[in-house]
Amino acid sequence: MVAIAKVYFSSSRAKREEESLVHKIKRIFREAELDSTISRGDVVAIKIHIGERYGHTYVRPKHVRAVVELVKELGASPFVTDTTGLDLTSSRGDALKCIEVATLNGLTNETVGAPIIIADGLKGLEGVKVKVNGLVLKEIYLPPVLAEADALISLAHVKGHPRTGLGGAIKNIAVGCVNKTTKALIHLKNPPYVKEDRCNGCGLCVKFCPKNAISIVNGKALIDHENCLLGCGCWSICPEGAISGFRERHRTQVEFGLAVADAAYGVVKYFTPSKVGFINLAYDITPHCD
Ligand code: SF4
Ligand code: SF4
Repeated sequence: MVAIAKVYFSSSRAKREEESLVHKIKRIFREAELDSTISRGDVVAIKIHIGERYGHTYVRPKHVRAVVELVKELGASPFVTDTTGLDLTSSRGDALKCIEVATLNGLTNETVGAPIIIADGLKGLEGVKVKVNGLVLKEIYLPPVLAEADALISLAHVKGHPRTGLGGAIKNIAVGCVNKTTKALIHLKNPPYVKEDRCNGCGLCVKFCPKNAISIVNGKALIDHENCLLGCGCWSICPEGAISGFRERHRTQVEFGLAVADAAYGVVKYFTPSKVGFINLAYDITPHCD
């Protein structure tokens, strides 16, 4: 039998201090019994999205801090987390860039009251395999840091999304709590391939590939798909546009939605439903993914 989740709602309007979002987040946390997901001594991952480098739509540090304080009150140790983006060359492609972006957006250890740890390592290449046997994904890879946490609180910023319509709790864990390979599997229908007519054999992609999955054969790049991690972004560094890019390999909208559901299922399955809680903050809602 499918258990329907109870959803609690509160407006963000406030006339008095006790009606502020900080207080409402704390009230909703308790009313929704999210404290039951956390035991004394647990290490608790609070999953946020750090936002974009030049954006201004993300969770406010004080709202993250409210959840951090609640977790600490329960005798547990919280850390605030996000994962690197697809493509190492992108603005959130590795952990160093992520910390830089988080800092630019005011999200620091000091402002949120807990360490900010990028969960999938320096480059987001590692992961712990979780079998899902879903409609699109057969397995997902959980970032190593998340895999060692005892409980997960998803603190999502709600946004519009060109492919799912809306992004919130499910997307925050499905795309946000997996490593680069799984992000690629969710978004892309096949691995990168080389367009031989464009490749001049310069070897830049060979030097870039962190898995040594590209070699030059007969003057052209060749990708060993058995070894390919799928999501590092070799297509972005090729000056000739000879490696198939993101847009050329997108999954259909339906497949994408199913893959998101498969990945979310895998994350909840790993933690078990009793150790996962969700809070959505619906403000500064953009029509596109932020
Ligand atoms: S970077 Fe591009 S042009 Fe150079 S070898 Fe790789 S695929 Fe070919
Ligand atoms: S070939 Fe695969 S492993 Fe190598 S950079 Fe490209 S996506 Fe990553």
